[in-house]
Amino acid sequence: MKVAVVSFEVYPLAKVGGLADVAGALPKALKRKDVDISVFMPFHKKVKENIEKLGLTSEKVLDEFSLGLATDEKASLYKTNLPGTDIPVYLIENEHYFSSDDVYGSPDGGEQAIFFTKAVLEAMKNMKAHFDVIHANDWQTGLLPVYLKTSYNNEPAFSGTATMYTIHNLGYQGLFDRVYMGFARLPDYIFNADAIEFYGKLNFMKGGIIFSDIVSTVSPTYAEEIKTPEYGEKLEGVLQSRSDVLYGVLNGIDYEENDPSSDKRIPYHYDLNNLDGKSKDKEDLQKEMGLEIKPDIPVIGLISRLVDQKGLDIINDIMRYVISCGVQFVLLGTGDSKYEESFSQLAKEFPEKVSAKIGFDINLAQRIYAGSDFFLMPSRYEPCGLGQMYSLRYGTIPIVRYTGGLADTIVEFDGENGNGFGFKSYDSSHLIRSILKAIYHYHKDDDMKKLIHNAMTTDLSWERSAGEYLKLYDLALRNH
Ligand code: ADP
Repeated sequence: MKVAVVSFEVYPLAKVGGLADVAGALPKALKRKDVDISVFMPFHKKVKENIEKLGLTSEKVLDEFSLGLATDEKASLYKTNLPGTDIPVYLIENEHYFSSDDVYGSPDGGEQAIFFTKAVLEAMKNMKAHFDVIHANDWQTGLLPVYLKTSYNNEPAFSGTATMYTIHNLGYQGLFDRVYMGFARLPDYIFNADAIEFYGKLNFMKGGIIFSDIVSTVSPTYAEEIKTPEYGEKLEGVLQSRSDVLYGVLNGIDYEENDPSSDKRIPYHYDLNNLDGKSKDKEDLQKEMGLEIKPDIPVIGLISRLVDQKGLDIINDIMRYVISCGVQFVLLGTGDSKYEESFSQLAKEFPEKVSAKIGFDINLAQRIYAGSDFFLMPSRYEPCGLGQMYSLRYGTIPIVRYTGGLADTIVEFDGENGNGFGFKSYDSSHLIRSILKAIYHYHKDDDMKKLIHNAMTTDLSWERSAGEYLKLYDLALRNH
């Protein structure tokens, strides 16, 4: 089977959030299952920088081709590989749309996404590459299935090509004024409530949901939650109407990239049989962060976008109380300035107990995953969540809210089984209770050993998920 994964970010070429991890790791796991896989992404400025840093090269495949949009801008196509593999990554190049410093930094995200989507389709056509399945991801590529079922309906290059659309976060749908229909050269007849119109606007994600052959999201629990008004972000009706083709496939993590016994980003290595390295990583982290160096104080890590979705409001409510309970707190993140400021302030007031690094640093993130005892992730909603998975892999015990993928990966510790702690009702008093429970078990040596064992033996491999994706690709072809 020949499959193209289309994504706005792909690790390690450009990463902002969890989507990059998925788009970087899933192709490798699919390749191991004999899928002929290609990846398409924009040639962001960040990608250019990273290609150089990673010692990769890129070659031009197609020079300046037109897209049939309401712009004279042309796209070029380059090709590189996913590092360490022969999986081709096709890069859509255009100076005007992809030269901002940040992946999502374009002043006009709508035009940029349309340009990318259309360029991918035109590139496939010009390359005469026929794919059995095109797997589009998130709102930036939501219009891809729409194009295939409208303007490209009779295009031989896509004859028999099925589409799968994956929602990584329903909170970001890509809502734009109707005038973008003109820019995209999409037919007017689809601007209605049964298709891509959404309260008077053009909704890219709604297009992806309605026009693709299979829809998926990144955990079974989230796939159910989004059909309800509480989590559906006003698309619950649309999702209900597609529930016969809506599936939840839990993400995996890259086991080679994230291996505490060989990860070059952490100072000391360890595995289940010998956890000495983890204790040393903790000491190292305490030192680096300017915290009191003590092995028997639980360190709670938090690596996150600092936004309400991630539970920052309830964490903020209880911080002063939590640090009075004999814990240390290490935060790495960027986001809402109110949270950046309040955590920086706490770190100033309690330098030996709280450290707050405001910024994005994947190497430091890894040292926190390895050096912490607990990892805090009390999300308001969580499509899948990767932080809790990396934590488990590094023997760091998640404290979560049981929602979405957190509910599918974390099992409450009962003294014997279970790999974490959590609560259901989104409320700071429940969060406190879970943290206190975690601290209680931390001081019982045997419990901590069991917890770490259960965490590190949880199956989070991409092999399992890739098998499920493969079944859905088959189903997409049958549904097409
Ligand atoms: P989301 O994609 O909603 O932000 P996920 O948990 O799915 O949340 O994925 C977030 C990913 O980004 C994780 O790999 C996490 O380690 C990483 N991350 C988040 N914030 C930072 C940061 N400030 N520095 C480094 N990595 C970060």
